[in-house]
Amino acid sequence: MSGTAFHIRPEAAGFDPYVPGLSVAEVRERYGLSTVIKMASNENPLGISPAALEAVRRNAGLGFRYPREGNPDLVAALAAHHGLPEERFVPGNGSDEIIDLLLRVCPVPGRHNVVASRSSFSMYRVLSRLCGVEFRSVPRRDDFSFDLPGLAAAADDNTALLFLTVPDNPSGACPPRADVETLARRLPPDCLLVLDEAYIDFCPDPGAQSFLPLLNDFGNVAVLRTFSKTYGLAGLRLGCGILPPALAAVLRAVHMPFSVNTAAEAAGIAALGDKTFYEETRRVVAEGRALLHEELSALGFVVYPSQANFLMFRPGTGHTMNAAELFEGLLARGVIIRRLASYGLEEHLRVSVGTARENKEFINHIRELCA
Ligand SMILES: *Cc1c(COP(=O)(O)O)cnc(C)c1O
Repeated sequence: MSGTAFHIRPEAAGFDPYVPGLSVAEVRERYGLSTVIKMASNENPLGISPAALEAVRRNAGLGFRYPREGNPDLVAALAAHHGLPEERFVPGNGSDEIIDLLLRVCPVPGRHNVVASRSSFSMYRVLSRLCGVEFRSVPRRDDFSFDLPGLAAAADDNTALLFLTVPDNPSGACPPRADVETLARRLPPDCLLVLDEAYIDFCPDPGAQSFLPLLNDFGNVAVLRTFSKTYGLAGLRLGCGILPPALAAVLRAVHMPFSVNTAAEAAGIAALGDKTFYEETRRVVAEGRALLHEELSALGFVVYPSQANFLMFRPGTGHTMNAAELFEGLLARGVIIRRLASYGLEEHLRVSVGTARENKEFINHIRELCA
């Protein structure tokens, strides 16, 4: 690097980036395949909501205009949809933007810390590092469930944020809401419990399992929601934070103007109203999840019970191929799933629920690989 005169913050130099799932185009190129099935990033197997697609088409001509700052139409739609005041909602360029904003706004680098479970969604750790904020990861229990008392114990007076994914990514397990309430009560009062509900809509009873109905009783809890999964808008980038109003005001003040674009805003509003697509998504995911669980178990894999739109599994005692070999074997056959090595789980794999046809092809391929 001699001769360069750039200043690069130590937190950014040699940065260990977020590792996304492979894309269809990458795998097509690498293996010269014409058809590739992607079951790697928990996207919606049905694609984009037709109502959202129509809204994008209708609004495409507005692409030359800046959106209205703060996306008031979307905020109004979200508030009405969830029955909560508008002042709590901050839309973002994916919920990742809200995670980033929370990490830049709440903890003071060198003083405060952030707590989460080990082997959780890596953005919590990646963005903490970039901010120079201490990240504490708490081991899970032997069955991979969250150690909620352990998380509470890891939080001290300098803990600014505690992230919990409900239901969990990558296991799909969903802690009972009563246990999450207990955690919220046990935390120091100025520690914000951030519940990432990216997958809550895939639970059997989202209304009873989400923390949103309890938000008014807890001043120290925030909820993150995304349009990337249930609403099929991953590529348009749209999510939101539902936050204590005073914190929401700070995020609105500091965020990048226009980070939620015109097409995403229109798509989001339309998707919220598309009940048919929402219910069809839930049905297809619930059926596919049950089928994949059954078939993978029958093939001798250890499968973790999931309430999300994916399943975590690992080879059993009878398997000769390890997780890396299975992943590569599937890839060569044009099926992309997710290795969890970047979550610190060398022997685990995660498969997103696909369409009925995709699920069947995935099972056929993995059966042949194991034979
Ligand atoms: C997919 C996912 C998100 C959503 O990210 P977006 O930026 O909204 O696409 C958030 N949290 C978790 C745990 C996820 O798996």
